[in-house]
Amino acid sequence: MIIKAPKGTDDITAQDSYIWQFMENKAQNLFENSNYKEIRTPIFESTELFQRGVGDSTDIVNKEMYTFIQKERSLTLRPENTAGVVRAYIENGMHRLPGPLKLWYKGPMFRYERPQGGRKRQFHQVGVELLGIQEAIADAEVIKLAMEYLDELNIPGLSLEINNIGCPECRNDFRDKIRNAVQPGLNMFCADCKVRYDKNPLRMLDCKNQTCKELLDTEELKEIINSDYICQECSDHFDSLKNYLDILNIEYTINKKLVRGLDYYTKTVFEITSNNLGAQNAVCGGGRYDGLVKILGGKDTPAVGWAMGMERLMAIMPAPKPNKIKAFVVSNNIDKALELVFKLRSRGISTDFDLANRKFVKQLDKASKLNADYAVILGEDEINFGKVTVKNLKTSEQQTISEDKIFGHL
Ligand code: ATP
Ligand code: MG
Repeated sequence: MIIKAPKGTDDITAQDSYIWQFMENKAQNLFENSNYKEIRTPIFESTELFQRGVGDSTDIVNKEMYTFIQKERSLTLRPENTAGVVRAYIENGMHRLPGPLKLWYKGPMFRYERPQGGRKRQFHQVGVELLGIQEAIADAEVIKLAMEYLDELNIPGLSLEINNIGCPECRNDFRDKIRNAVQPGLNMFCADCKVRYDKNPLRMLDCKNQTCKELLDTEELKEIINSDYICQECSDHFDSLKNYLDILNIEYTINKKLVRGLDYYTKTVFEITSNNLGAQNAVCGGGRYDGLVKILGGKDTPAVGWAMGMERLMAIMPAPKPNKIKAFVVSNNIDKALELVFKLRSRGISTDFDLANRKFVKQLDKASKLNADYAVILGEDEINFGKVTVKNLKTSEQQTISEDKIFGHL
């Protein structure tokens, strides 16, 4: 029997890897250009990190983690990377570095979800985290960076939604108001929402269940949601963010129902969607998490960041051009061919040749099939006179030149 890859995972084949390289190179260039440095953390961490750092009222921690026991130690494949980055920040004493600290990452994440379009069990995220700045200018910088990256990839149909969910102080009051409003109908809510009611009623606003959505659609709740429940500091922070977004010419809408999936968010939360995607239309989610570093045992440190799903971006971005080789050496003199191939490669010219040493025409055929720019032909005559024939495979023009002049012609 053939063994298949686990459900919800994909191979990135050699035919497609250039698309990933394209996206990753764009990320690297753009983020490093803004002085963000790449961080790479382990793919598995202590389960406790996510329980504490993502929060146990979230779907991610309650239902979606790949957890395994190794020698009585509970480990989990990372479902997201902010908790890992913050753990590394604390463990490596990065707070001693000159701040603020700007980090970016890319890599696979794992969530046990029902696989469907745009929803995988192993998927890839690219993300940024900015630690050490409390003011909204940091929120604006990371949002701008997200928009720039999406722009670079030519992602169509984007919209940005923002909200301010307050700080732990002002949120308490808001939580109580929501609790009071939903309490009479609580037994009609889904099982998840009943748990959320106790742990974090804000998350009920985010429920995808149709019945819950209808139950939440009351005048009383609308009024609570639309009331300016956040404190002065949070409200100033929000105004300040809006001002920076205007300066940066970034369009946005305010969505007071936007609460996002992670427990640790404070003040700013945002999401970017594309209307070119189907049901799973979120390409980027992020927010401020001023409490997280402390929750994980570090010094109180404000921070803000986001993550994007690379598969979702790939589904709607215009395909880049595949990587191809520049030269294909065509010859039946394998010794001479070998020398020339490595000479070209050593000068940084991507080159291949026919390892099977097939007939001349077959080799020329292969050069075209590989979409090489040039066939570099070493026939008997060429070899006898120390020459090569360079054939431009686009225009079919060819020229015989002395071998030492070849670099000028490619
Ligand atoms: P969703 O509401 O779609 O489940 P989320 O709020 O769980 O998203 P985040 O945890 O904010 O997602 O992750 C950031 C981004 O990662 C999402 O906007 C999405 O593009 C991507 N993403 C999340 N889960 C998956 C998945 N299972 N498969 C593919 N991409 C995903
Ligand atoms: Mg999710």
